[in-house]
Amino acid sequence: MIRYRCDKCGCSMTADDPRRFIVKMEIYAAAAPLEFHESDLVKDHTEEINSLVEQLSNANPDEIEDQTYRALRFDLCRECQRKLLNKPLG
Ligand SMILES: [Zn+2]
Repeated sequence: MIRYRCDKCGCSMTADDPRRFIVKMEIYAAAAPLEFHESDLVKDHTEEINSLVEQLSNANPDEIEDQTYRALRFDLCRECQRKLLNKPLG
């Protein structure tokens, strides 16, 4: 039998435990819609792209992901689920 632990308090639960809740979170950058103009299409972006590639090749992949998108998943017991619902941002 698969056992789960509450990611908050550590109590033990089974896969079909009615006290077990799954929390999924997505955190992503709130970027404005992109706007393109005709001048953007004729401009040479080679230097800009090369600079960006250079920056990314030296960056930590986890830090890059944290700046754009991160998906998290937690198992919670009923008590910790209720505490989260009452105060989602801690
Ligand atoms: Zn708990």
